[in-house]
Amino acid sequence: MKTSELAYTGTYTAWSREGIVSEVKQQMKTSRFEHVLRVEQCAVRLAEKYGASAEACSLAALLHDYAKEHDVEEMKGIILREGMDPELVHFGSEIMHGPVGAYYAEKKFGITDEEILNAIRQHTIGGIEMSLIGKIIFVADYIEAGRTFKGVEEARELAGKNLDEAAYYKIEKTIIHLVKKEVPIYPGTIYVYNSWIQRKAGK
Ligand code: GDP
Ligand code: FE
Ligand code: FE
Repeated sequence: MKTSELAYTGTYTAWSREGIVSEVKQQMKTSRFEHVLRVEQCAVRLAEKYGASAEACSLAALLHDYAKEHDVEEMKGIILREGMDPELVHFGSEIMHGPVGAYYAEKKFGITDEEILNAIRQHTIGGIEMSLIGKIIFVADYIEAGRTFKGVEEARELAGKNLDEAAYYKIEKTIIHLVKKEVPIYPGTIYVYNSWIQRKAGK
């Protein structure tokens, strides 16, 4: 289905899709906004394939990077005030924008559905437990049509067969990427990796 034809039913937010699109557009540079639209496109396709709500996936996708370009000090303030993991503030916008994006999804857009909020919250590092919507957003962010990194084709193939394997692929490759880049790894990223690898070994 074309995302532009998706009419929201009011189940998850009182906002229209068009209203959210124009609000999101104002928050970020054009290239990122275009990424967001491609994530939505990909998420809706995965929703159709795996039997999730296209509306919920569209909404989570449109809002997943809402806070990415927000002022870092403002994000830190929200994290500490709202009682989120205080460790987050040491890892910059890269790690903070998911949890802070979920905050805006709830406060500004009136979303209360925990699956959608968690999908936004967890989209960068994944989660020990992820719902179907959570996995879809996590994977769609990684494989959307504009991504060109080495390995993206393999990730796309996995996503066409098994969403868990695609999610695990992103978790594993992200850790390798971060080590190679010599950047600090947020403890939550390690927890997620450990839980997925233990589950995999237990199979
Ligand atoms: P984007 O917002 O669409 O660019 O994608 P993501 O939200 O998935 O990722 C944002 C960035 O955070 C990517 O460059 C990841 O490699 C990076 N990232 C993911 N986990 C960690 C981590 O534990 N530590 C650090 N420093 N960066 C991370
Ligand atoms: Fe992101
Ligand atoms: Fe993204």
